[in-house]
Amino acid sequence: MKILFINLPYHGHFMPTIGLVRELIKQGCAVTYLMPFDWKEHVYESGADFAGYENHRKLSEQIKNAYAAADRVAKDYDMIVYEQFFFLGKHLVEKHGKPAVRIFPAPATNGKLMKEYICAGGALGIFKHKWICKLWTKDIAKGIPMKTDCWLDEIVQNPPALNLVYTLKEYQPYAEDFPEEQYKFLGASVYDRKEQNIDFKKTNLPVIYISLGTIVKGAVSFFEKCIEAFRNEQVDVIMSVGKGFPIHKLKNIPKNYRIYNEVPQLSVLKQADIFVTHGGMNSVSEALVHGVPMVVIPFMSEQPTNARRIEELGLGKKLDYSTINSESLKTTVLSVMKDEGILANVSRIQRKMLDAPGNRGGAAMIIDFYEKVSR
Ligand code: UDP
Repeated sequence: MKILFINLPYHGHFMPTIGLVRELIKQGCAVTYLMPFDWKEHVYESGADFAGYENHRKLSEQIKNAYAAADRVAKDYDMIVYEQFFFLGKHLVEKHGKPAVRIFPAPATNGKLMKEYICAGGALGIFKHKWICKLWTKDIAKGIPMKTDCWLDEIVQNPPALNLVYTLKEYQPYAEDFPEEQYKFLGASVYDRKEQNIDFKKTNLPVIYISLGTIVKGAVSFFEKCIEAFRNEQVDVIMSVGKGFPIHKLKNIPKNYRIYNEVPQLSVLKQADIFVTHGGMNSVSEALVHGVPMVVIPFMSEQPTNARRIEELGLGKKLDYSTINSESLKTTVLSVMKDEGILANVSRIQRKMLDAPGNRGGAAMIIDFYEKVSR
C-alpha cells in the first residue's frame, strides 16, 4: 500500500509520527512524507521517501503550500494520513476519493478543549476572536468547500472515520466525547531517538530533572529559584535551561547541579525521580512512559490543561510560575517524590502506556482500516 503522509513544520506535531512511519514501513507499506523542503533530513530519519513544499514562517502559508503539493500528487497514493492542523485534509481526501486517517500528536480536541487551549494563550491565542479565525480560514480555503467557516471548528466537527491519538484514553480530557470506533488511543510514541550524551553520572542520590521545554523561555530569576531550592538537599539536579539561555548568568552553582542548554531528555528521564516541567505534551508523555512523577509549572497552550489532568489523575502537582519561590518549589518537589499514592498512580499509568498499542498497533490499525474500506 502506498501512503502519503502530510504534516506541518512543528517539532511537536512531527516528531511523534517518526515512530509510526517506521512501523508502517516495517509492516510493508511504502510511505512518502510531505513536509517543507528544509525538513528533508528529519523525514529521512523516519525511513520514508520525501516529497516537499515551500516552507514559510506563517502557518497559513504552510497550509496553502502543503495543500497545493498534496493536491498534485494525491492521485498516486492508496491512502492519505494527515496531522490534525492540516485541516484541509478531509476535503483533500474526499476530492481524490481516498481513505484517510488523521493523527493527533496530543489529546484529540473537542470544542471545550479547543477553547481551553485558545484561552491559555500561545500560538492559538489570536483565534480567541472568532472573526480572526474566519478571515484566516477564508484566506487559506479560498474556494474549497468546508463543513464550517473556521479552521478550529473544522478540526473538531469534520473528523475522518479513523483518528489515531497519542495519549491514553484515561488521560484524554472529555474522553466521553470521542466515539470508540472513530478515535483510537495509542499511548505515547516511543521509538529510538538520536540523542547526544551529557557528562552526568548517576550517584545513589535521587535525581530531580528540571526543563521548560523548547519554546518557553525561563527567566534567570526562575532558574535562580531552582538553584536555591535544592542547594542544601541530598539530591542531584539536572537542569535544561533551553537553547540560547546565558548559563554564565547563573552564579554560585552548587556541586549537586548540572546545567545544560539541552539534554538527552529520554536518557535523563530513565534516571530521574521527579520531573519539574512546563507540561508540554511530549514531556508529559515521555515522563509517564518512564514512570516519573511531575511538578508542572504551566505557561500556555495545552500546558494548563495537562497540569490539571496530572493533578486530577494523581500523577503529580502543579505550581504557578508567577508566585513560585524556592521554598514552595522545594516543599512540593520533595513531597511529590515521597508520595506513595502518586508513585503508585504513576507506575500504573506507566504500565498502561507500555501496554498501549503504540506505533506498532497504530500502523496495524491504519493497514486494517485500508483493507476494510477497500474491500
Ligand atoms: N527536549 C529534549 N531536551 C531538552 C528539552 C526538551 O530532548 O533539553 C525534548 C523533549 O524530550 C520533548 C520536546 O523536546 O520531546 C519538548 O516538547 P514538549 O511538547 O514537551 O514541549 P515544547 O518544547 O513543545 O513546549
